[in-house]
Amino acid sequence: MPSPVGWREVPCVECGEFVAGINFGERCAACQARRQRRANRVASRTAIAATLLMAASTLWKLPHTSLARWYGGLAIGATYFLVRLITRRIAMEALK
Ligand SMILES: [Zn+2]
Repeated sequence: MPSPVGWREVPCVECGEFVAGINFGERCAACQARRQRRANRVASRTAIAATLLMAASTLWKLPHTSLARWYGGLAIGATYFLVRLITRRIAMEALK
């Protein structure tokens, strides 16, 4: 299919298919979506593992008062959220 005037079709860096609307060195929409799915899977597994470790450490070390339990719960939630965010970003850069 011919591209509109002024546009050029550029090969996807991963699958090599010529696609309009991307720049050199970028991925097509299908490759980008596949990469994002893999990154999400890696990130959620890593985050679950880190959260379990954090929960075990919290239960083991914190005193058994109600305030400490509240902060422990907050820390566990924050651990899951942050580890997932950071790992997804790293995986998007590092995955082949
Ligand atoms: Zn592609």
